[in-house]
Amino acid sequence: MTITIVGIGLIGGSLALSLRDYGIGNRFIGVSRRPETAQKALDLGLVDEILPLEEAVKAADIVIVATPVDAYMTILPQILDMVDNQIVIEVGSTKSIVVKSVKNHPKRSNFVATHPMAGTEYSGPEAAIHNLFKNKLCVLCDVEESKPEFVTTIGNLFKTIGMRISLMNSDDHDKHTAYISHISHICSFALALTVLEKEKDEEAIFNLASTGFESTVRLAKSSPDTWVPIFRQNRDNVLSVLDEYINNLLKFKGLMLADSYEKLHEYFEEANKIKKILK
Ligand code: NAP
Repeated sequence: MTITIVGIGLIGGSLALSLRDYGIGNRFIGVSRRPETAQKALDLGLVDEILPLEEAVKAADIVIVATPVDAYMTILPQILDMVDNQIVIEVGSTKSIVVKSVKNHPKRSNFVATHPMAGTEYSGPEAAIHNLFKNKLCVLCDVEESKPEFVTTIGNLFKTIGMRISLMNSDDHDKHTAYISHISHICSFALALTVLEKEKDEEAIFNLASTGFESTVRLAKSSPDTWVPIFRQNRDNVLSVLDEYINNLLKFKGLMLADSYEKLHEYFEEANKIKKILK
């Protein structure tokens, strides 16, 4: 089977590694915007060859699009214009706008919208790692708009590399990911800025940083090229979660200003209930 990957970065590259590791696909073609990224992907053995988009799509059985989400709006319809019986998937962190952008395309049913929910704070082909997706969840969205046999093939592909599958409509997906992924990123960016502005001496931050700080600020290393388009596409959901988050911060601030530490203790105990969900 020939697999074409458009956008060979963290997710595209890690998918290439996992698919190869688990015996899916024997020819991997990459499509890259920048020649230096193409060369790195070849040097790292993520793909066997680099081709222009149209040739790469024609040669493929499955096309995986793994660019930032804003690029899907132009690339997906372009790819669907080129396909005969190929399956086309994208792996974006947002879904509603992307799915709507191809809703009326004559080849819509060749397309399966997926979100393999796994990642790191690093990007580009060098960030690709083996087994990124093992024991993680992959959401397939609006599957009733895709050919059932293509949904089965793609579901099995993600199961083979170790993922659990969940089906969801794209609006619900975007609402839930605003809570469990997007808000953590925006909070981490804000925390990093807060500390960087206060502590101009980077050496001091480095020396004092303990694992608590490191783990909460880790996501602030993530690429703005990936995350700004996500916030733009999921703007309304993220804004509504941000309102709730800011209210909680203001509540904590108010309790501290009023020296109401017993109440603060109660709120923290309430927050501890997250332990039952995330063991
Ligand atoms: P990444 O490491 O930056 O990889 C994206 C690749 O796309 C880059 O290597 C880049 O290659 C190419 N690219 C960038 N802009 C492009 C454009 N306008 N047109 C064509 N190609 C372009 O990003 P990633 O983290 O793998 O994210 C890829 C997708 O996976 C995104 O849609 C993201 O929402 C989704 N996702 C991310 C995570 C995560 O945690 N990071 C998790 C799940 C899903 P060139 O240098 O050649 O441009």
